[in-house]
Amino acid sequence: MEDCIFCKIVRRELPADVVFENEETIAFKDINPMAPTHVLVVPKKHLASLDDLTGDDVGLAGNLLLAVKEVAALSGVAGGYKMLSNCGEAAGQVVPHLHFHILAGKKFVP
Ligand code: C5P
Repeated sequence: MEDCIFCKIVRRELPADVVFENEETIAFKDINPMAPTHVLVVPKKHLASLDDLTGDDVGLAGNLLLAVKEVAALSGVAGGYKMLSNCGEAAGQVVPHLHFHILAGKKFVP
């Protein structure tokens, strides 16, 4: 997507503190961290949110979860983090490109 902020980060047209990358996924530190550890795991393929996943994305979905686990370990928070994805504006999604927040070092409810 031409104007998508996260697509621009994937294409390196915008700066980001990238901590992990593989064929399908990129992860970078959130620019406005809400916890001592706050990393975003993002598919390189543009999908607006989890609602856009289809049966064609089964492999991608699995790889995203494995990337979350790997990024948590690389960030030193394995075994003690929260992973969440805001789906839609009503849930607080601001960037309409699917992403998983990894949050650690602070308690969040739920
Ligand atoms: O789930 P939601 O869409 O609200 O989260 C978007 C997140 O992307 C925010 O936490 C924001 O700080 C982060 N962000 C970023 N780098 C950008 C733009 C937004 O880390 N260039």
